[in-house]
Amino acid sequence: MAENKPKRIEDLRKKDDLLVVTGAGGFIAGSLVRYFHDKGFSRIRAVDKKSFDEWYQRTPGVESLRLDVSFRDNCVKACEGAAEVYNLAADMGGMGFIERFRVECLRSVLINTHMIEAAQKAGADRYFFSSSACAYNIDLQKDTRCLALKESDAYPANAERGYGWEKLFSEIVCQEYWAERGLKTAIARFHNVYGPNGTWDGGREKAPAALSRKVIEAKDNGSCAVEIWGDGTRTRSFMYIDDCLNGIDMIMHCDELVASPINLGSSELVSVNELLDIIEGIAGFKVKRSYDLSAPKGVGGRNSDNTMIKRILGWEPSTPLRAGMAKTYAWIAEQYALRKVGKKVVL
Ligand code: NAD
Repeated sequence: MAENKPKRIEDLRKKDDLLVVTGAGGFIAGSLVRYFHDKGFSRIRAVDKKSFDEWYQRTPGVESLRLDVSFRDNCVKACEGAAEVYNLAADMGGMGFIERFRVECLRSVLINTHMIEAAQKAGADRYFFSSSACAYNIDLQKDTRCLALKESDAYPANAERGYGWEKLFSEIVCQEYWAERGLKTAIARFHNVYGPNGTWDGGREKAPAALSRKVIEAKDNGSCAVEIWGDGTRTRSFMYIDDCLNGIDMIMHCDELVASPINLGSSELVSVNELLDIIEGIAGFKVKRSYDLSAPKGVGGRNSDNTMIKRILGWEPSTPLRAGMAKTYAWIAEQYALRKVGKKVVL
């Protein structure tokens, strides 16, 4: 029924309302800027602390600011005149990063603390915070055949050290800004996002990109060898970037979800070995697998329970992993080839 359709940004905002997106030099926020631009929004402010030549994507016609939003004054500048603020800036990466750099991850608390205050003071109507499945209680994720995590499973709290606790605390900040100050906050717990324009080498990349690159390398150098972190049995679900962008839009503009953390993830659970099977199928190439049991590997299993998002939005991320991985693999193969001939690529 038309009146039950989830609202999108164009249902609530004028095309010249100012949208502020932080972390826009990175994967998801950079893609979100392009998503709004493609919908015809003419005033988008993209913010990131990286120098412009390090941004993964620059959308033409978008105001780009280089600001470190862990400082209050920079947040005030970033939020000036904003109708909506999407805060996706965070120091993060795959397991290799978040297990090693817990202090860096915890320090992202400064970003959300200053950004939400600046957004509220600037009179923004809505504020989006990108939380994570790492906010869930780790005791529930020991088994590779884990039950999917539902929103209430974050409590009693026992989040992933560093990164997970920062996300959980920042969720609470968002909830209280609504309760006490009336700022409409949206909180999505992302489960592993992948796709073109994401990081694929250098230490922050996640399993889909890392394994794709390793298969491309093994094919290219003729070694056929791929090293897997852990024993390959750990399970995860992976959400394609287009689903993530659509989900952010619907969650942000749903009044029923104000200040209510919600899963934004695929429920297609695979083991690391199965993910590699899919990549081998796309590459048309079989690798020799070895397992590094001492490498960072994270919890045993983690999946997204999508009961709540289906009930409230009548929607869930549904791009099949194979289809999303085919596009991602093709993009990484292109970047790999460009780098090999000395062209500058984004990592
Ligand atoms: P990303 O690393 O590609 O992008 C994050 C961006 O934030 C980077 O460009 C970085 O330079 C910027 N940033 C960091 N600190 C900053 C600061 N102080 N000031 C300004 N910019 C700063 O990461 P991503 O995958 O695009 O993730 C975006 C958000 O989604 C993050 O909040 C992350 O925690 C969350 N998230 C991502 C995933 C995933 O699978 N990618 C899963 C769960 C949650």
